Amino acid sequence: MPKMRAVQVARPKAPLEIVERAIPEPPAGHVRIKVQACGICHSDTFTKDGTFPGIQHPRVPGHEVVGLIDAVGANVAPWARGQRVGVGWHGGQCGYCDSCRRGDFFACETATYVTGITSDGGYADYMIARAEAVARVPEQLSAVEAAPLMCAGVTTFNALRNSGARPGDLVAVLGLGGLGHLGVQFAARMGFRTVAIARGKDKESLARELGAWRYVDSRAGDPAAALRELGGARVVLATVTDGPAMTAVLGGLGVKGTFLVIGAAESLAASPFLLIAGCRAIKGWYSGTAIDSQEALAFSVLSGVRSMNEVFPLERAADAYERMLSGGARFRVVLTTGN
Ligand SMILES: [Zn+2]
Ligand SMILES: [Zn+2]
Repeated sequence: MPKMRAVQVARPKAPLEIVERAIPEPPAGHVRIKVQACGICHSDTFTKDGTFPGIQHPRVPGHEVVGLIDAVGANVAPWARGQRVGVGWHGGQCGYCDSCRRGDFFACETATYVTGITSDGGYADYMIARAEAVARVPEQLSAVEAAPLMCAGVTTFNALRNSGARPGDLVAVLGLGGLGHLGVQFAARMGFRTVAIARGKDKESLARELGAWRYVDSRAGDPAAALRELGGARVVLATVTDGPAMTAVLGGLGVKGTFLVIGAAESLAASPFLLIAGCRAIKGWYSGTAIDSQEALAFSVLSGVRSMNEVFPLERAADAYERMLSGGARFRVVLTTGN
């Protein structure tokens, strides 16, 4: 039986270990992907630490997967061998529950399919994906370029395009890390007056390079006051995981502004008066489904948005994961298989 390499977590908090496994066969409704690249996302800690409700180990993490369709199960109409595809966090949906019938596939009530959590993900030579979770990858993007767009990219792209902001509106992106460096690029390319907010004067040149119209150093002064001086933000995209840092920017929302949270901070303090008086809102945004990913990739080709990546071979997945956890990576960490 042909074998492949896979990087698994044997039990919660166990180290990432490379093992040999049989290459899996795709069941009906599924495809097999020969993985070329897989990004490492902070949410892979759910798999590593076993903190996702109901997760079973051993489990192969990875939900920023790009590769080639290599085998197709029964009843899979749209996909064929050799197509370049990607898979993100959203691992599929039932199609018949009330949420699915409303088109809210992300909120499927029947089964939660999460790549690399409820099924094995992309830290491997091959993985199995549900057919509806697969996105087309345009040939203009390399596998390494496309992989981080399957989670970090689609999350920022989809949040911004659904934020209600219109071209010319003031949109602030809080944080310049893995999510933020993509958020600034998408916001600028979507035609927003894009304000990047981060800590330290030294990040300004990067923010400008990414397309920011203004840069606010949150160490040098009150970032909310800085946004108010610019007229108040229509949208703040909060990509950081630091609650107090979010709270410090809330007051920079303009009238009817939306504070859009995509960074999983523990908590966030808000003044009810601020919300009431200006009809302001705090809202979360999930990542996106396969078609959202496909559109994030297409927009990235169109507008030149690219993730900045540090690349590691699959064998060094444990080092790469530590690099992601350290917070020092500029800005996403991507595994390559050589396939
Ligand atoms: Zn992710
Ligand atoms: Zn459903």
